[in-house]
Amino acid sequence: MKDKLLLDAFSALSLGVILVDAHYRIALWNAWLEAHTGRAASDTVGEDFFTVFPDLAYHRVGDAIRQAIGHNLSALLSQSLHRSPFPLYAEPARPTARLSQAVTIVPLGDAERYCLIQIVDVTAAVRRESLLRDQAHELLAQSLSDGLTGVGNRRYFDICIEREWRASKRNNKSLSLLIIDVDYFKLYNDCYGHQRGDECLQQIAAAMRSALENPNDILFRYGGEEFCALLPETRSADAVELAEKLRTRVQMLDLPHISSPDGIISVSIGVASHCQKNHTEYGQLIQSADNALYEAKRAGRNSVRVSATFRKFMPFQSAPGV
Ligand code: GH3
Ligand code: MG
Ligand code: MG
Repeated sequence: MKDKLLLDAFSALSLGVILVDAHYRIALWNAWLEAHTGRAASDTVGEDFFTVFPDLAYHRVGDAIRQAIGHNLSALLSQSLHRSPFPLYAEPARPTARLSQAVTIVPLGDAERYCLIQIVDVTAAVRRESLLRDQAHELLAQSLSDGLTGVGNRRYFDICIEREWRASKRNNKSLSLLIIDVDYFKLYNDCYGHQRGDECLQQIAAAMRSALENPNDILFRYGGEEFCALLPETRSADAVELAEKLRTRVQMLDLPHISSPDGIISVSIGVASHCQKNHTEYGQLIQSADNALYEAKRAGRNSVRVSATFRKFMPFQSAPGV
């Protein structure tokens, strides 16, 4: 009576239970396992465990069973470290993805040693965890991108410049920064309205973003109608070349701006590059790029200027309207 009750209790469990004897023969196989393997207890009880599960002979599960029987040791195999070791399915007749499993292996008995294997279906928990991870990832991406243009926002810029600054010092590599400002944009808003101004910023951001070919180069909206591009491992000469490419791309959009001297939307760009001798902290890199931008504005806008610190290495300066 007691045995029957015990077997009924095993059958009613909502987890898989296998009892293996000292000769690795299956002594117990509960109803949950029948439901998720498609194999009846009458087919498996008395069989060699590793004949039923040949793939587990050289797996961590096999080691744990041998350790339990041979050395009285327990083991817990999590899904994250040991992906779905048993071929268990929601519907064994249509085996698609294996159930996610948490497996516990414990020794039983004294004179005659057994090993009890418990398998818990953690599929729902794993799915929930992955959903939460995706959502957290999505929220993080949203919190770091600019709502209007989709490029990195100011917060992301602060994170990236600090990270890249440290990396450039550590690796002794150059780091360049472009600060990009839309020309006569107040007049654009006045003339075409704020809504068109917003659309214009979106087009400018998209044009510049598509011009960045190196995946390590990142475009940010620094604030208002100002953008910046952080260019890791980029020397001054290459940064100026890229700045010129961005300026040209915006010019090629050919967006009418009747209140500006050129009649179209343009940007001015200041370029600065990290040089250990000249910059002791990244604030100075930003300041240098900002100074160069001011010079580009003074020179008539729609132009690129490089920080004075590097001018002696960089003869090239684009002329306004070029
Ligand atoms: P400059 O060539 O010297 O840069 O002149 P500017 O008119 O572009 O510069 P100013 O700083 O005087 O004006 C910047 C304008 O950018 C003012 C502000 O209304 C506009 N602006 C800032 N952020 C946004 C935005 O998100 N959307 C729109 N439509 N306009 C913006
Ligand atoms: Mg501005
Ligand atoms: Mg401006």
